[in-house]
Amino acid sequence: MGKIIIDQYTNMDLSPKRKWQLRHPDQAKKLIKTSYKKYYLKNKEKLCKYQQKYYKENRGKILEKKEKYFLNNKDRIQQYNRMNINRKRKWEIKNRDKLRIEVIQLLGGKCANPYNIEHGGFMNDTRCLQIDHIYGGGNKEAKELGSRGILYKVLKDSNRKLKYQLLCANCNWIKKVINNENSKPLYKNS
Ligand SMILES: [Zn+2]
Repeated sequence: MGKIIIDQYTNMDLSPKRKWQLRHPDQAKKLIKTSYKKYYLKNKEKLCKYQQKYYKENRGKILEKKEKYFLNNKDRIQQYNRMNINRKRKWEIKNRDKLRIEVIQLLGGKCANPYNIEHGGFMNDTRCLQIDHIYGGGNKEAKELGSRGILYKVLKDSNRKLKYQLLCANCNWIKKVINNENSKPLYKNS
């Protein structure tokens, strides 16, 4: 029999599991983390759906709480952000690249080549591939959503191949010239 430890909240003897956790705090922390990760990966869809539903229903409350926390800890948060700006930036770049490659692969992974150009080796070089809005409106959407917003939109859109295509920088430029998208609009009076 192990030593009796009284729980301060329930006034009852702790379970053997909890006693073990108290005796091995580091190991217990690790174990809880890995088991939660396993649980999360197994129930990812369900948890995400629940989270989205909860956020939708309690948006005002959550934002209010967030703002209150920010105002109370403003100095601490700003100092932390200043010290970790490079780390944050690196993380952003890594995530953006990952997202971009995923979207490019969903759209076919190579230039749609509408002008039958001899491309050589760069037709599927992801570095010069751009996401083109087949029916225009790309500039407006870019202003509204930002580059990352567009990537997420394409990722979620199940009809993406009807609205978007991949063009290499050359084909994209030719399309812009043909559609007169590069020149300034004419003044109405002239
Ligand atoms: Zn091309």
